[in-house]
Amino acid sequence: MLTEQSITQFQASLRGKLIQAHDPDYDTCRKVYNGMFDKRPTIIVKCVDVADVIASVNFARENNILVAIKGGGHNAAGLGMCDEGLVIDLSPMKSVHVDMENEIALVEAGCTLGDMDHATHVFGMAVPIGIASTTGISGLTLGGGLGHLTRKCGLTIDNMIEADVVLADGSYVKASAKENKDLYWALRGGGGNFGVVTSFLFKLHPVDTVYAGPMLWELSEAKEIMKWYQHLITKAPKELNGFFAFLSVPPGPPFPEHLHLKKMCGIVWCYAGDLDRAEEVFRPIRNFKQPALDFVGPIPLPALQSMFDPILPTGMQWYWKADFVKELSDEAIDLHIQHALKMPTWQSTMHLYPINGAAAKVGKNETAWSYRDATWAMVMAGIDPDPANREAITQWTKDYWNDLHPYSAGAAYINFMMEEGDERIRATYGDNYEKLVEVKTKYDPQNLFRVNQNIQPVVTEDAVAV
Ligand SMILES: Cc1cc2nc3c(=O)[nH]c(=O)nc-3n(C[C@H](O)[C@H](O)[C@H](O)COP(=O)(O)OP(=O)(O)OC[C@H]3O[C@@H](n4cnc5c(N)ncnc54)[C@H](O)[C@@H]3O)c2cc1C
Repeated sequence: MLTEQSITQFQASLRGKLIQAHDPDYDTCRKVYNGMFDKRPTIIVKCVDVADVIASVNFARENNILVAIKGGGHNAAGLGMCDEGLVIDLSPMKSVHVDMENEIALVEAGCTLGDMDHATHVFGMAVPIGIASTTGISGLTLGGGLGHLTRKCGLTIDNMIEADVVLADGSYVKASAKENKDLYWALRGGGGNFGVVTSFLFKLHPVDTVYAGPMLWELSEAKEIMKWYQHLITKAPKELNGFFAFLSVPPGPPFPEHLHLKKMCGIVWCYAGDLDRAEEVFRPIRNFKQPALDFVGPIPLPALQSMFDPILPTGMQWYWKADFVKELSDEAIDLHIQHALKMPTWQSTMHLYPINGAAAKVGKNETAWSYRDATWAMVMAGIDPDPANREAITQWTKDYWNDLHPYSAGAAYINFMMEEGDERIRATYGDNYEKLVEVKTKYDPQNLFRVNQNIQPVVTEDAVAV
């Protein structure tokens, strides 16, 4: 039982703010990105340093209370927040130190992707990350990290050299290829199961301006485009990335009025090679079929990585489901198009993110991230600002996924999942799952960190669940 006195003592040990239900900023601080969730924790700690994180972990463990870890709060399953327990909110921890001599960046766990891009781009460098700048670096990295540079530079975890971690017993360790190697392995894809990461050390790549943006075609041309795209992206040089999407054109500038709200298919390209060669690389792409909209050109990487922010504000209703996909058969393509025609709201979408290229060069047991032999991470997302449309977007997503799942590789990217049960988590990790259980049992035997896509430890006599 928490007492007022124990909370007061805990508060006194912190540099960051402790927030409870009676505080004026409680409602703001408990919000997560997905408006479907309305969780009410007992305590939120806005941690400003590692000491705050250690104090919070110790307080939660000693008082037997549930712990959630909030990085960017973007998790669609709402796993950055909990009901009744304690939330370790890392958002005040935003420092980024760029070391140009060694081409590395030390990034605190509260950074969004935009915070990190801001700090590295000024040096003409980048870490491969995701496509929306408001996403948290922590959750994205711990789950894998897919985006515009995946084919050139690999997943975000393939560029994570070290992580500093507060473990369940309150100790503070480094995970790297030299220290706590098992933890380092598990953190690269195993999510927030093993401790609270307070900072990441990333390898930097000299990527500054890219040749990138969306190209859109009529939905009636989708079959031809998907077949051509499949062939192209599996053979393309690794500098060329392109994720396929079904979408509706946003109803505002810079999109031409005649296309507003039209359901279309598209590819969001990113060529991160020699800019002098970009036009040449895109000549056969442009010659294949005249797009109805072509916004592809030179653009600073952070601008590309925040291009979709305005249409994806925080607080909308999100329901998504995902799978890895190895190939797009004709039957699968037909089903995709049938569901694309029924997209229930203009924000709803389906994406196919390539994970071939550099990401496929890493062995499937080298990190916890198992599906290195898939071609895409597919996600269908029902999205709308209005809670009244919650059922409609959820049903569309489920129907779409149910029809396409038989054509998938049978498991999904952990960061594109709702809470879908143990079976789905096991499937995602494949033959890495047993090792993940061993690492979890070693570092978090009482499953203190369980507000996540949970890997349950083996329960031993001295590890009675909290
Ligand atoms: C609009 C949008 C766009 C997206 N685009 C991409 C994309 O391009 N590529 C991609 O790979 N993914 C993408 N995602 C998915 C994203 O990677 C996941 O939602 C991820 O969980 C978000 O991380 P977060 O820190 O914001 O999440 P949070 O909600 O804060 O946390 C998510 C999970 O990670 C754990 N966690 C968070 N921080 C830590 C920490 N420091 N230590 C230990 N555990 C921690 C939490 O316990 C929780 O289980 C996108 C999501 C959205 C909503």
